[in-house]
Amino acid sequence: MSIQEVELVIVGSGPAGFTAAIYAARANLAPVVIAGSVTTGGALMTTTEVENFPGFVDPVNGPELMESMRQQAERFGARILLDDAIRVDLEGPIKVIETGAGEAFHARAVILAMGSAYRKLGLADEERLTGRGVSWCATCDGFFFREQEILVVGGGDSAMEEALFLTRFASKVTIVHRRDEFRASKIMAQRVLDHPKIEVAWNSEVARLNGAEKLESVTLRDTVTGAERDLPATGLFVAIGHDPRSELVTGTVDTDAAGFVLVDHPSTRTNLSGVFAAGDLVDHTYRQAITAAGTGCAAAQDAQHFLAAFE
Ligand code: FAD
Repeated sequence: MSIQEVELVIVGSGPAGFTAAIYAARANLAPVVIAGSVTTGGALMTTTEVENFPGFVDPVNGPELMESMRQQAERFGARILLDDAIRVDLEGPIKVIETGAGEAFHARAVILAMGSAYRKLGLADEERLTGRGVSWCATCDGFFFREQEILVVGGGDSAMEEALFLTRFASKVTIVHRRDEFRASKIMAQRVLDHPKIEVAWNSEVARLNGAEKLESVTLRDTVTGAERDLPATGLFVAIGHDPRSELVTGTVDTDAAGFVLVDHPSTRTNLSGVFAAGDLVDHTYRQAITAAGTGCAAAQDAQHFLAAFE
């Protein structure tokens, strides 16, 4: 295994990782970004139009935005590796990061920016129709569904929040829930039940997504009787939770019960000296490209200050 000594390694290549790389590279830290072998560029690689990233009057295509961030980081000297970090040892003063291709990096500082993954329904056409009616983020995509009929899948607080937010745009919102009562807090559930634009399909699960180019309807299955029915819908928001991609550091870096990396807010410091974390990996709440980029910037500055002590 070849070993390379570097100042800073960044794991993850979404808006948090690439923004951290831009700042760190401009601070002459020559960061190495372990960008992932499959989804290099992060969650926005799976979407089409991004309308809320500042600086773009017209919608920007998700993969194009991420390619620009990558080129911007490379322009200042960041090295991007299309590989996965598969093992880390972060406790000592020299951090060890090993990749799937058999490289090892020794660094004084590491920024963790592995993001989080939305839970999927596991249906055949889910991937094909993602960005074509199927979405995981009302804040990101709600605006595209003005005066349309939308379904929200889920029964927790985030499903309630998504449904309430979507009433601003949709003509009707139907919440699809497997059971006959919500898991959400009473106050959120009541707000939903009282809303004139929201209906609930109780004891129901999504059996199929239908549509050639875009989502046109959804087949629901009754979880008690097994009966199926079709509902017309141009939008379906999946709100059944998301999981941080913290498996690489489980047991060494402190996380909360759900696995989100804990940082010493407002800094990006973790419990381990020289280890910083940013983006959706630490963020239950906002989960946007711009907030991930913001904490990526903060992590690079925190790492820079930490490394300055060794000069
Ligand atoms: P991510 O973008 O998730 O990137 C993390 C990266 O780290 C991934 O590439 C992952 O594969 C990689 N990684 C994980 N583990 C390892 C490892 N061990 N080694 C190497 N790499 C690893 N936000 C908006 O602001 N506007 C939108 O319009 C919008 N639309 C969206 C549409 C969709 C379909 C989705 C899924 C999300 C959307 N979001 C949108 C949310 C936004 O994409 C996220 O908030 C943002 O990408 C989080 O950035 P991040 O850098 O923290 O993580």
